[in-house]
Amino acid sequence: MKSSLVILYHREPYDEVVENGEVHYRDKKSPNGIVPTLKGFFSSVNQGTWIAWKQVEEREKSNFEKRITVEDGGYDVQRIPLTAEQVKHFYHITSKEAFWPILHSFPYHFSYESTDWENFQTVNRLFAEAACEEAAEDALIWVHDYNLWLAPYYIRQMKPNARIAFFHHTPFPSVDIFNILPWRDEIIEGLLSCDIVGFHIPRYSQNFVRVARSLREVEVVKTESIPEHLTSVGTALAEPEVTTQLRYKNRLVNVDAFPVGTNPQHILSTLQKSETQKRANEIREQLQGRKLIISAGRVDYVKGTREVLETYGRLLERRPDLCGKVNLVITSVSPAAGMRAYEVAQNQIEQLVGRINGRFARFDWVPIMLYTQPIPYEDLIGYYKAADVCWTTPLRDGLNLVAKEYVIAREGKSGTLILSEFVGAAVEMPEAILTNPYSMDRMDDAIDKALDMPIIEQEERMGKMYKTVTQYDVKCWADHLFEVFRSIEPESETTKEAATV
Ligand code: UDP
Repeated sequence: MKSSLVILYHREPYDEVVENGEVHYRDKKSPNGIVPTLKGFFSSVNQGTWIAWKQVEEREKSNFEKRITVEDGGYDVQRIPLTAEQVKHFYHITSKEAFWPILHSFPYHFSYESTDWENFQTVNRLFAEAACEEAAEDALIWVHDYNLWLAPYYIRQMKPNARIAFFHHTPFPSVDIFNILPWRDEIIEGLLSCDIVGFHIPRYSQNFVRVARSLREVEVVKTESIPEHLTSVGTALAEPEVTTQLRYKNRLVNVDAFPVGTNPQHILSTLQKSETQKRANEIREQLQGRKLIISAGRVDYVKGTREVLETYGRLLERRPDLCGKVNLVITSVSPAAGMRAYEVAQNQIEQLVGRINGRFARFDWVPIMLYTQPIPYEDLIGYYKAADVCWTTPLRDGLNLVAKEYVIAREGKSGTLILSEFVGAAVEMPEAILTNPYSMDRMDDAIDKALDMPIIEQEERMGKMYKTVTQYDVKCWADHLFEVFRSIEPESETTKEAATV
């Protein structure tokens, strides 16, 4: 049976478990992140397929079991077998060394020489072919993220009437930066092959529209005012209005901006668990009255971890009274082995932590605790709950879920959030202490303000942010997209008849 919904996403939504020598494919049960929400879309269709890649040995390719059914998942997965070499060039090198720096407005990190564009095209074509094989005539094919920029173009070639949606999980840079990509024509042609292109915030969708107009004959069909919860005039990512429909080659391309949310129910129920409460109490006890600052993320130059550490070093230097009174817990999760793009950032972080701890530590107090392995999500919620300050100031970030998770874990009560002006979530939460991580003075002011903010002001700001993140949660994002997808549904026979009467 063909699928009426096909999702293309490089992450696999299932776990491979070997029991008594037999392989079982089980639905990933963690309710964290975006994957469960995407799977939730399958419940509204008779048959759905997820397409992802799977690393295999060259010799395994010929008899590789491509299509699997996920036990208790209610959907199938089509796996595209890629060799380690293909994965390395597609994901670790081309995506991370060429596209990632451009997407995050770091042109000096862009590397052309190492890019294997042909391999990128091949992998995208394989995804497109798999999608077309699976999709019913009127299926919705939903492509995710920049790794699959070209897939919509290939799908459109094979299935001219397909309904194609795309969601961009990263920022989309300004036209001056994007056009550095030597493959910009093919990429923009890919995006303009969609019926809907979605982004987190209006700034990214407007950047896309400007790029499209600079490279192609594109007509602007509809421009609208910004939805109220995304209006924050005067902030770095504010936009006055948003283009929502383009016409290209006689087809309509809808453009959407709506930020992904978190799953507040899951965070709130985790907080109720006795293990989480125990963990938060243990953390508090170990702190012995010291203030806790949490900064959670991955090793990545875009995350601004170096800037956080340097600011914290200056804080202890500027305000010696704080020595022994604050603790910074940083998670800077190491990238997969072989990701050259992040080597320098990782070394810098480890050296800086060593330098600051070496300079200020006392026998009974070490100013920074660095985790390079991920803190399990449920433990992280315990840390959020215990933390007085969440410091999340990437130089650039598509959204930043950590900020939203912290606000929920504090249940709208006290606590302060220091948030970069250059992350998507800043548009939704102007009540955070918004700061500019490129400026030492602004970062110094932000941490002072966070540590010294009166409780009443903390509660007032957190209360507003809590309202926003619980209202605009991941379910709200999904509902919004259902609405948008409905607008590109093929006209039903009855509607067509009514229209011709
Ligand atoms: N996270 C985690 N353990 C850690 C650090 C992060 O579980 O030690 C999770 C965090 O809760 C969040 C995600 O990783 O859900 C990071 O998402 P975000 O949007 O902040 O950044 P991304 O990594 O997607 O750029």
